Amino acid sequence: MLRLEMPPLVVVTSREPYVDEHTKFGIRTVQKAGGVVSALDPLMQTLGGHWVAWGSGSADRDTLRDGVRWVPPDRPRYRLHRVFLAPEEVEGFYAEYSNQGLWPLCHLLIERAQFAERAWARYAAVNQRFARTAADRAPKDAWVFSHDYQLALFPSTLRALRPDVTIAHFWHIPWPPARVFQLVPQHRALLQGLLGADVLGFQTPADAEQFLATVAALTPAGVDFAQGQVQWQGRTVRVRAFPIAVDTAGIQALVQSPRVERLSLRLRRRLDRRGHQLVVAVERADYTKGCLRRLAAWDAFLTRYPGWRDRVTFLQVLVPSRTEVPEYRQLFARLMRQSRAFNRRWPRQGSPLLLTIPREVDRPRLMALFRAADVVVIHSLLDGMNLVAKEFVAAQVERRGVLLLSRSAGAAQELGGALPIHPLDPEGTADALATALNMDRAERARRMADMQRHLTENDLEGWIDAILATLYEVALNRVVKVASS
Ligand code: UDP
Repeated sequence: MLRLEMPPLVVVTSREPYVDEHTKFGIRTVQKAGGVVSALDPLMQTLGGHWVAWGSGSADRDTLRDGVRWVPPDRPRYRLHRVFLAPEEVEGFYAEYSNQGLWPLCHLLIERAQFAERAWARYAAVNQRFARTAADRAPKDAWVFSHDYQLALFPSTLRALRPDVTIAHFWHIPWPPARVFQLVPQHRALLQGLLGADVLGFQTPADAEQFLATVAALTPAGVDFAQGQVQWQGRTVRVRAFPIAVDTAGIQALVQSPRVERLSLRLRRRLDRRGHQLVVAVERADYTKGCLRRLAAWDAFLTRYPGWRDRVTFLQVLVPSRTEVPEYRQLFARLMRQSRAFNRRWPRQGSPLLLTIPREVDRPRLMALFRAADVVVIHSLLDGMNLVAKEFVAAQVERRGVLLLSRSAGAAQELGGALPIHPLDPEGTADALATALNMDRAERARRMADMQRHLTENDLEGWIDAILATLYEVALNRVVKVASS
């Protein structure tokens, strides 16, 4: 109902939903798998509207018609507006300020965070460019839904250019305590940038609370903790937790489609023939995901429980990530070396104990893997939400699996059926893994059913609707204000 009546929607993200690449066979359009970008694409296909994002593909300019890329290419439903960035802008805005500054700081890795002045200038300039593009292209009175730490200055910049639009900004990563956030030399500008929004969304109530405390400590704005509101420059900014969700029904349909079912059953039969349980980890190779600690915990498990050595297979999907940042390249190389060393330490006849897939796996295969797995391990040191945890639960149609979930992932606030792990405690994690592997089918099914119920009641559509409903509240308030003035 709400969706039928709503004004045109403009989504703004740093990464684009469709990337056009030149290949030797012509132009190929690649759709990003997983994550929020692919979650918003179905919504945009239903509603139509506009999407502003960085045009990062080699053929992105060549597929524009009148400055716009209509997508999806085979059934155009909405307009993609691309912001083109020069290499030094990508470096300063994306690799440096966003990924070597805000990302580590918000994950409380203060020592790693760097905020060079030149990177800041580029970050600010790119945010300006996004805001100008959105201002040029947004229809009158549009609702704008912008995203994440790369675009913190976007809301206030857009508001100055287009006071008619209503803006929701969602912060996907953890929000740090005020005394950590104030370490960003430009923290005031970033807070003012965010407070340009009408609605600010966070992954957990604790993140929203921490943001309010930061605003109270570092700005003169009025903060109402009980209502989740900030009074700023004569406006009310609503600050809420909207824990991001997955398309539970969509995942369940996908894992039961003939192709995915076949893949999953084939894998399962191979494991059953050997009498192995399958323990899986799926991560971007990022230091916040705790990949090295996870390998150490698996080592501790085999030392403590040597009897499992011939009854378990470990599988890790390590997706190379942010390879333009040297630290990430080094981490990936180190992980590969340590994985080989792991198998040398734990040699086994037949199949190796640890299998590594060093690349991104497509969605059907990933879901087949989640359906077949006995245990999925999320070892994050700190994580805004962790969608892998939710996707695994949704995909478990046989309810055979157990989720081992870091206490410090946002998902741990919701998935009470998981076995909690402490990512800094290898021995404790080893014990939790043994508990999971020994858990009987009835207990596994009961825990899984609990979590699946939660994910059915709180799915992606509900997440989007909750944000749209808050925008609706803002728009209604405006009308009331205008009428009574
Ligand atoms: N993903 C994928 N293929 C892979 C690994 C991950 O499609 O090989 C997807 C996964 O399904 C999930 C997203 O990437 O939707 C990762 O989201 P998450 O919140 O777990 O972590 P992030 O990488 O955003 O920090």
